[in-house]
Order: sequence, then structure tokens, then C-alpha cells
Amino acid sequence: MAMRDEARNIIRDLGLTILKKHSPKLPIETYGGKYGDKQIWLQLNGRCPRFGVDNIGTDPSVLNTYIGIVNYEPDLILNAGTAGGFACANAKVGDTYLSHPYVYHHDRRINIPGFDEYGIGKYACYPCGEIAKRLGLKTGVISTGNSLDHTPLDLEIIATHNGEVKEMEAAAIAWLATTYGIPFLAIKTITDIVDGPESTEEEFLKNLNYASKILGEKTIELIDAL
Ligand code: SAH
Repeated sequence: MAMRDEARNIIRDLGLTILKKHSPKLPIETYGGKYGDKQIWLQLNGRCPRFGVDNIGTDPSVLNTYIGIVNYEPDLILNAGTAGGFACANAKVGDTYLSHPYVYHHDRRINIPGFDEYGIGKYACYPCGEIAKRLGLKTGVISTGNSLDHTPLDLEIIATHNGEVKEMEAAAIAWLATTYGIPFLAIKTITDIVDGPESTEEEFLKNLNYASKILGEKTIELIDAL
């Protein structure tokens, strides 16, 4: 997970405790515990010491995921977080999506044969159609980029690849999961409407606590169902 605010409820409700800070130089933290018959490791990117905010976006997420994979060899990697949704796809603040059937990057434009598709990525996700139906969750293609806002070109690329959910981490984590052959799934609760009237940053901050509460509940239901 990227942000502590998104993770707080899940850590509390699963009864996880801090296991490890992996290095004095890296802020990545692992919380862990048994939940039913499952072993959970929840990893936070941690706080950037230079800027005093949570590390978010693709780079910290890849490092976080790598540390998780080599230390704990998980059977499944779940990226839980918040995201922007689209009014044109009927998204509302508080809706929760599971990634299906793939996640990809919308801000890696490399117009050279081969590299064009590499940039977009399109990483397949763990099949979740049945689980989503059972839990009453939406499913959709998740689109990852390193900006909270968007340019007209971002929107065009998102539409071209049928993106319904916009956020900043999923495809990066899915790349590493795919590299290691570990099933990957993302669960994202909507904080803001990308094509709505409000500014993304104001809407995001206004709804972060509300969406994080729903994200926590739905993530635990998902873990129960997996
Ligand atoms: N300004 C915020 C920083 C969080 S950035 C703050 O100070 O708290 C947004 C985070 O939420 C990222 O981790 C991203 O994955 C997710 N997110 C939510 N809505 C998004 C959107 N519309 N576009 C991109 N990322 C979004």
C-alpha cells in the first residue's frame, strides 16, 4: 500500500503488528499477522524523509514489492488503495473496484515498435469475476501514471485502453508480480471523479478518510473470499 492513511483501518482490523523496518535508510515498513488460515504481510512505502510525505507512485511501489517478494515469497500480491473513477463509467465516490482483466501504464509513451506496447504494459490480473459478483464489487481496467492530475493526452490514452480507474501504483506492482510469476490483484476505492466538476486534489483530500474506511472493509471481505 502507498499511503498510511489508506492502510490504518486494515492494520487495526486485521490485528497486524509491525514486523520490520527493512533498513535505516529505507522507510518501507512491514506489518504482519495471521488472519484465519492466511498469513498476511502488509507493506507500506513509508514516509519520504526529504519531503515529509508518504512515498507514492511507481518507484517506491516497485521497491516495496521487491522487498516483500524476496523476504516473504507471497502466494498472491494485493495492491489496495484509493483511485480516481470516471463519471462516464458511472463511478461514484466510495465505489470499490477489483482490477480486471488487466492493469497498464498511461504515461509511458514510447513510439518505437515493440517499446510502444512495452510502455503500456497490460499486466493480466488474478481472475476475480466470481469474487467481485459475490462481494458486490465493481471490476474494471486500472490505469497507472505518476501524476494525480491528467492531461488531455492521458485521458485519450486511458479511453483507448478502456481504463475505468486511475491511480499511481498498480501497473508498477503488477510488472514485478508478473516478472516473478506471482498472481496479482488490485482493489481500489474511489476518492474522486476524474471527469467530474471538482478539482482532483480537493475531492481526494475531502474523501480520503471515507474511502479508506470502505477500502478497509472491502479488502478484508476480499481476503476472506480468496
Ligand atoms: N495530495 C495527497 C497525495 C496523494 S496522491 C495527499 O497529500 O494526501 C494520490 C494517491 O491516491 C496515490 O497513491 C494514487 O494511487 C491515489 N489516487 C487517488 N485518486 C487518484 C487520481 N485521480 N489520479 C491518480 N491517483 C489517484
